[in-house]
Amino acid sequence: MAESGVLIVVSAPSGCGKSTIIHRLMQVREKLCFSRSATTRAPREGEQDGVDYFFVSRDTFQSMIRAGEFLEYAEYVGNYYGTPKFAVDERLEAGCDVYLDIEVQGAMQVKRQRPETLLIFLMPPSMQELERRLVGRGQDDMDTIHRRLHEAERECAMRDAFDYVVVNDDVERAVAEINELISAHKRRLTQSNA
Ligand code: 5GP
Repeated sequence: MAESGVLIVVSAPSGCGKSTIIHRLMQVREKLCFSRSATTRAPREGEQDGVDYFFVSRDTFQSMIRAGEFLEYAEYVGNYYGTPKFAVDERLEAGCDVYLDIEVQGAMQVKRQRPETLLIFLMPPSMQELERRLVGRGQDDMDTIHRRLHEAERECAMRDAFDYVVVNDDVERAVAEINELISAHKRRLTQSNA
């Protein structure tokens, strides 16, 4: 039987460069799976259902909550986001490490339920740089950008609740640091289970 994988949560304010980091990390690490979330947010241009997210209605999301289908879920800037439990557990059992890109409330729920989870908080180099990136990517209107920046300040204030804080000042450096944190975490878990 394959050795079980580990659960890794990376939280970061929106616009911090998380998707670039995960794509690079998947190129440098073997057996790392990305968990696809469900959300009630509308797809952005270029996003596809079942690829970027499972885009569902509020009614569907609420019935998934009632059916206990989520490992965690949270409301963020007016929309629900949640991690379906089934796909995560299936991948962990198959020996894959599973990477969750979720916001801080969800990260805390996962840590409570699965204390062996590695929690990493990814910080923007500065709030000015974060605003520049959010405006530059042109995906959200100014009202949404201001709400996301407000949310970012609240999220950064919670970084001490994470196991590690990594500053995304340079993608390759941040990827190398996260890669090493995952390897060290796996070594520790293996030793403590031996
Ligand atoms: P976005 O709308 O920019 O795709 O995501 C907004 C925020 O929701 C990001 O911080 C992202 O990490 C978070 N998020 C995405 N999926 C989930 C999820 O399944 N659960 C939780 N709690 N947050 C999520």
